[in-house]
Amino acid sequence: MKKFLIIFLALLTLSGCAPREEKASETIFCMDTVMDIQIWGQDAQTALKQVKTLLQELEATWSANDGKSFLAALNRGEVKPNAEQQALLDRAEELSRYTGGAFDPKLLSLMQLWGFASEIYHVPDEAEIKKVMKDGRWDLGALIKGYAAERIVQLLEPLKVSRAVMNLGGNVQTYGNKPDGTAWRVAIQNPNGGDPVGMVSVEGSEAVVTSGNYQRYFIGDDGKRYHHILDPQTGAPADNELSSVTVLCADGAKADALSTALFVMGLEKGSAFWRQNPGFEVVFVTQTGEVYATEGVDLSHCEFEVLSRED
Ligand code: ADP
Ligand code: MG
Repeated sequence: MKKFLIIFLALLTLSGCAPREEKASETIFCMDTVMDIQIWGQDAQTALKQVKTLLQELEATWSANDGKSFLAALNRGEVKPNAEQQALLDRAEELSRYTGGAFDPKLLSLMQLWGFASEIYHVPDEAEIKKVMKDGRWDLGALIKGYAAERIVQLLEPLKVSRAVMNLGGNVQTYGNKPDGTAWRVAIQNPNGGDPVGMVSVEGSEAVVTSGNYQRYFIGDDGKRYHHILDPQTGAPADNELSSVTVLCADGAKADALSTALFVMGLEKGSAFWRQNPGFEVVFVTQTGEVYATEGVDLSHCEFEVLSRED
């Protein structure tokens, strides 16, 4: 029997009919955004199916605006979180403390006041803002796609997947290495449209997450652009020199929360925060088109200024 098995395996190798790698890819709409998923490996089709199911489950649980979600019920005080849900809520609170409150997972009432949920936009006055500012209803919109990417990586690990790359609405997540040994190259979108600002290279599993003022916004009667990243201190859209922030980090949820928080902080405070905290890299793009990259970023195809730890 053993002999037959050896001959069979030898034939399999010689005839080249070892299990073949396949590619599975799909573009879906989930979490209110377009998601593009590409997976390579023997189990690529199965993996893709499981990834889609996971994304749909996370959306059904954590959507702040779907009245049937767990998060909506939590905000109404009707349910208690299970251990896994509590762990994510705790992590969101922890990231809020870590960023000195620039990332605030409880801004739902403010988002609704500005009309970002209903798309019936309104520029509120200070009294309106003050009234809802501290009412503390959860909105994990700035974290959930990064968390989803992290969960997808965990899901892929035990499967026969050699590599994957996905763009979950501005959250790029890579997994594994390319067979030719080259790095993954991720384009940083130009906030003003047109060609990408540049390309960052990453290896293995990495989250490359961008937050920008061009992704979701409206133009007020005053002609001003009001975008969807709020400064928790003022209750209004963060108003500084930046138009986008890209964070590179092994941890997806942290990358997502940080891209939002650093956008709120602005270039000066954001780069000071990076100098004080290890474990991630950043590319800042200003409204006037200047690019600043922290020293650990492998950025190409653009001119930029390097931010170093010593500055
Ligand atoms: P996107 O969701 O477009 O990728 P972000 O990750 O920056 O961008 O998340 C923005 C979303 O997070 C908003 O739509 C809102 O739901 C929520 N949000 C807005 N401002 C903040 C903030 N300062 N901290 C945490 N969440 C925020
Ligand atoms: Mg974010």
